[in-house]
Amino acid sequence: MTQSLSTSGNYRHIFGPVLSRRLGRSLGVDLMLFKTCTYDCVYCEQGRTTRHTACRKEYIRIEVLLDELKNFLSSFPAPDYITLSGAGEPTLHAGLGSIVQGIKVLTNIPLAVITNGALLWDSSVREGLHMADVVLPSLDAGNAQLFTHINRPVPDISFEQMLGGLIAFRESFHNAIWLEVMLMEGITSSDSEVREIADHVRCIRPDRVQLNTVVRPPSEDFAKPIPRKRLEQLAALFEPHAELIADYDGAVQEMAAAPDADRILKLLERRPCSLTQIAATLGLRPVETAKHLEYLAGQNKIAQKRFGADTFFSTVHIADEEEIR
Ligand code: SF4
Repeated sequence: MTQSLSTSGNYRHIFGPVLSRRLGRSLGVDLMLFKTCTYDCVYCEQGRTTRHTACRKEYIRIEVLLDELKNFLSSFPAPDYITLSGAGEPTLHAGLGSIVQGIKVLTNIPLAVITNGALLWDSSVREGLHMADVVLPSLDAGNAQLFTHINRPVPDISFEQMLGGLIAFRESFHNAIWLEVMLMEGITSSDSEVREIADHVRCIRPDRVQLNTVVRPPSEDFAKPIPRKRLEQLAALFEPHAELIADYDGAVQEMAAAPDADRILKLLERRPCSLTQIAATLGLRPVETAKHLEYLAGQNKIAQKRFGADTFFSTVHIADEEEIR
């Protein structure tokens, strides 16, 4: 789940637009509190899940979300997509259907939903998504053992249930499904492990299969990236041939304007980035970026971590207050 904030900072639940490899200029809508998820994936770039739950409720008020979005759309150029995603799993929001419907009433900009797919066995989640233009669920493992190892789901969600949900969703959903498969070195990098996933993908019948790997600091150090050449070989095991979406070069770009230190902070709130990525994303010179990072570190607002050959910066997170309990 990717994103960053490009507006002047008045929006709590709207962020971007970011230039997304998959969705073009994508405006994010975050329905969840940090970090509320049915999974605790070893590769998660948001760190460990702090609210590990399958409990669906109105985590953020629907009218607050829709008001922010309406305000944004009346003030800024239209993005290519509005995308439900963020620092948690959007299908946990009990008002998913009303939010999707509310957005479709507000605008005809295409609506995308990025989800881990864990709750698609629930017919109310499938119904809630039916007006979306594209849904981007995940499948990272070909068997129950790897599912538990990689995604660390809440105990009430089994591999069979999750897989059944993806298949049932395909049967009822007539718009686009782009299935993301995150592969990791030494965990899901052998032909046999990937063939097992590809067999399930054939039953799910997504419109597109998109392969990813770990390109930002993960929740667990043992989650390692697969080199591009090997990922290209693994893509050939899928039918149809999978696309590579791994952002090896840190190509996501921020579109907006706000004071530079604020823009950096807003970018890092959503995802860890290296100095080079921050500079490229925000259109800053590396030397300026380094100065801002030094300032933010001095304020104890950011932390840094080595990953591969790079140093990544992230915000020092202060847990959100729940708006609705
Ligand atoms: S599903 Fe997404 S937000 Fe949840 S733990 Fe996995 S990567 Fe992180």
